[in-house]
Amino acid sequence: MLLVHFTWARSAEPPVVQPLPRTRTEVDAVLKLAALPPANPRALRILLVAGPKDHGKGEHDYPAWQQAWAPLIAKSPAVSIDTAFPFPTAEQLAAADLAVFYLRGKWDAVQLDALEKFQNRGGGVVTIHWAIGVTGPPLKFAERVGLAYPAAKYRHGIVDLKLATDHPITRGFPANVRFTDEPYWPFVGDTARVRVLGTSDEKAGSGDAILPIPVLWTHEPAGGGRAFVCIFGHYSWTFDDPLFRLLLLRGMAWATREPVTRFDALATDGVKFAEP
Ligand SMILES: [Zn+2]
Repeated sequence: MLLVHFTWARSAEPPVVQPLPRTRTEVDAVLKLAALPPANPRALRILLVAGPKDHGKGEHDYPAWQQAWAPLIAKSPAVSIDTAFPFPTAEQLAAADLAVFYLRGKWDAVQLDALEKFQNRGGGVVTIHWAIGVTGPPLKFAERVGLAYPAAKYRHGIVDLKLATDHPITRGFPANVRFTDEPYWPFVGDTARVRVLGTSDEKAGSGDAILPIPVLWTHEPAGGGRAFVCIFGHYSWTFDDPLFRLLLLRGMAWATREPVTRFDALATDGVKFAEP
């Protein structure tokens, strides 16, 4: 069944239609160019953090993602999984190598302090979709993950993601990949301090001028730790897209300083492909 989403916040937006599954050929073309995953991966403790669901059915379903992705990632060798809701304790962060946040970001002074401590001892951070949102001081959060998003503008629908394919995370991808999700803009912070891996052309300039808006980026804070930010993740269907999964899983591996292909096998696990 195709899902059609109507967005009430901006009545000018056309209804959004669920994308068709990808072909196996399209996905294999990317996977076959990847380096082999590490033979003896080091033990990793991965913390998946979700918050209370917001938005409509099939959108921003943080709890469903946590329930699906904890067993998914546990299939990978040498990982142990912990989960937190709606924010990890200091003990959980102290025990983790990687923390993945899919929730509505608050990032007040207490959370920023916890994140900074985690990164300063080398913890890897991944934020998905509204986890880049911030109600606390945006520049302080931007120091942690590169750029911050005090809720401003957005667009739901088809996005032709333009990828910089000269990074290990995007290696083997075509320069353009179509998704159906949601970019955000503008961000607070200095784009010169992040490595942008994917952009979407949006009417974000003055007079609706088209500007490339960051959708995927990496950031290495001065104090340590690595961060990977993924703006997509509005629709639940995006998490079933093997090419989205591949980008996210590689971002997770990169944030832990592991070979980026470590989790590649999970990108197609249980995925439905288009009929040949
Ligand atoms: Zn959204």
